[in-house]
Amino acid sequence: MYILTIDVEDWYHLINNRYFSNPKNWYDNESRLMKNLEIITSLLEKYNQKASFFIVGWIAEKYPAIIKMLTQLDFEIGSHSYLHQTTRLLNKKAFFADTEKSIKTIEDISGKKINSYRMPAFSIDSTNKWVFDVLSDLGIKYDSSLTVINRRNKNIHPYKIKTQDGNFIKELPVSTFKYLGMNFNSGSGYFRILPLKKIIKSLEKKDYTLLYFHPRDFDSKTPISFKVSLLQNLKNQMGLKHSACKFETVLNNFKFTDIQKASLKIDWENTKDLLF
Ligand SMILES: [Zn+2]
Repeated sequence: MYILTIDVEDWYHLINNRYFSNPKNWYDNESRLMKNLEIITSLLEKYNQKASFFIVGWIAEKYPAIIKMLTQLDFEIGSHSYLHQTTRLLNKKAFFADTEKSIKTIEDISGKKINSYRMPAFSIDSTNKWVFDVLSDLGIKYDSSLTVINRRNKNIHPYKIKTQDGNFIKELPVSTFKYLGMNFNSGSGYFRILPLKKIIKSLEKKDYTLLYFHPRDFDSKTPISFKVSLLQNLKNQMGLKHSACKFETVLNNFKFTDIQKASLKIDWENTKDLLF
């Protein structure tokens, strides 16, 4: 099973940076989102592939044409928060307000119910697991916010997460690329820097794969900024030259689906509960 997910945010939606994590500063930066999103959607159309797009609510409000375009192309749309803040810095009330605003904004534009969610920066651990209770309260059925970095689990597969209201959130975590005996998040920066042959080999071995990308992962002209460190600029620039070409090869070799369609094929009755 191969699932493809895209986090729809601009190159300046950087977390853990004093300047860029302040939404007031976002207006001062050139948007490169639409151009980059078109690279992705045209490749998906070319290879007849499906994907889930997790949208930052602030983006939906500023560029409603993006939501309309993705809806017209029949891609699944989910929420990627409203203000793209790390969930670790939000209390329950603030997380509820941010998530509710994001869902409402995207639903009002798309005319479709939002069922799927991804937190910014994989920011969940045992200290804020109440986020799943909030997601369930807001009608979210599928989450894709976990990965090996915060679970330390080598065998990534779907989980059920029990919530306070007695429901379950169906968790479809980001999978991993195995390289040099280590596990790396499958997508984004690691996709850009790892050799294509190794990526293909790693994908061939998996029975569950969920890749994630940002539009900026395919932008060879991502701006260099003096507001972030030299190391962060290097990380942001690495592998951009060939990433779209690598992505096309992967699309040409594997058949991808979105979160909701993949969920129909998962045997949730016999899927383990995730215990924090
Ligand atoms: Zn994000």
